[in-house]
Amino acid sequence: MNYPSEAPESARLFERAGVVTPGGVNSPVRAFGAVGGTPRFMVSGKGAYLTDADGREYVDLVSSWGPLLHGHAHPAVIDAVTKAAAHGTSFGAPTVNEVALAEEIVARTAIDQVRLVSSGTEATMSAIRLARGYTGRSTVVKFAGCYHGHVDALLAAAGSGVATFATPETEGVTGAQTHDTVVIDYNDAEAVWELFEQRGDEIACVITEASPGNMGVVPPRDSFNQVLREATLKSGALLISDEVMTGFRVSRSGWWGLEAVDADLFTFGKVMGGGLPAAAFGGRADIMAKLSPGGPVYQAGTLSGNPIATAAGLANLQLATDEVYSRLDAVSTELQGMVSAALFGAGVPHRVQYAGNMFSVFFFDREDDVREVRNYDDSRTQSASKFAAFFQEMLARGVYLPPSGYETWFVSGALDDGAMSRISDALPYAAQAAAAA
Ligand code: PMP
Repeated sequence: MNYPSEAPESARLFERAGVVTPGGVNSPVRAFGAVGGTPRFMVSGKGAYLTDADGREYVDLVSSWGPLLHGHAHPAVIDAVTKAAAHGTSFGAPTVNEVALAEEIVARTAIDQVRLVSSGTEATMSAIRLARGYTGRSTVVKFAGCYHGHVDALLAAAGSGVATFATPETEGVTGAQTHDTVVIDYNDAEAVWELFEQRGDEIACVITEASPGNMGVVPPRDSFNQVLREATLKSGALLISDEVMTGFRVSRSGWWGLEAVDADLFTFGKVMGGGLPAAAFGGRADIMAKLSPGGPVYQAGTLSGNPIATAAGLANLQLATDEVYSRLDAVSTELQGMVSAALFGAGVPHRVQYAGNMFSVFFFDREDDVREVRNYDDSRTQSASKFAAFFQEMLARGVYLPPSGYETWFVSGALDDGAMSRISDALPYAAQAAAAA
């Protein structure tokens, strides 16, 4: 298989979209800015495969950026959604499915209570508001390269040095909105201790990706999460573990199931919505008690706990048994080995990093550049051109990868022998393309 680089129907749709939508997309990375070419408009998905507007079929290694643990249109998820939709799309009143989903989340994790929202952004935004309300403190600590959605206070650039006041990374976010955000390097325990020594009593919370997947996959090393736990406990700050990406993806509970470092608040999204908009934040009962309506920290949502989204999420989670996670781990390991072998074969300097079944591939221009990627600065030494060449060749051979070297590759349980052999057939060509780039 080898699709032409032109995709006429997607190109037509992209042009049409660009008239009425900025950049033609509703989330920036979909525009293929980092890899070039026409973003593919998708019309359907089934199991491990996506079909685009030109009728081309791709093995999907994006999985809607994580939610589709069991592949596209799993019959049990579709059945749950169809049944829920037949009873009405939204009531603006409590429903039994919300309770069942909350019970499922609480049963799988370390939290006492959970509040449902509609996106990961809402979850992290609400969690930091709650942390500030609970502690009566203002400062939020985040790590360079960690993404927590487009919350104003969390769109702060990395400062150089140990700890700096952050400056806004995007126009439209004011200095006032990021004034209380401090950004430090990921995996830098010394910087954490130094910051807490100087300003520990001002810090409301540390928010961290449980295992970062938004600068490529950069797992916590040397018990970094434990350091965050100890520093926050000592100073009376809260630890927020952002499991929007890892939650229910890397184990029954998420990263916490692989490394049981406790946090005060957790955020979830993606898998728990089964591909529909649903997310959550939760934690200790005494902290959650501060939320409205019982407490003074306001938080609300017209579509929070939507009956169709909760039905999809519940079905997705109920399918996610220990056997599924074992299979995902095995598929991921096999895939990593295949990618690495192809790249070694073509002499492409690279490094594969993984966290549970999540992984990403860092391409480098020179063999001397290859090293462990421990933080955002390391990640930014990767080769954008080699990744783009690799991506385009995989796409032409019917494999859909995340269109950026800073993104995680997401496997699904639907990757069968046929899908794996299509990937394996494509890899040597893509590796050659990367070598030539
Ligand atoms: N936190 C993390 C760790 C994420 O990966 C993301 C999205 N990729 C978010 C928060 C934001 O979620 P959403 O896009 O649903 O707002």
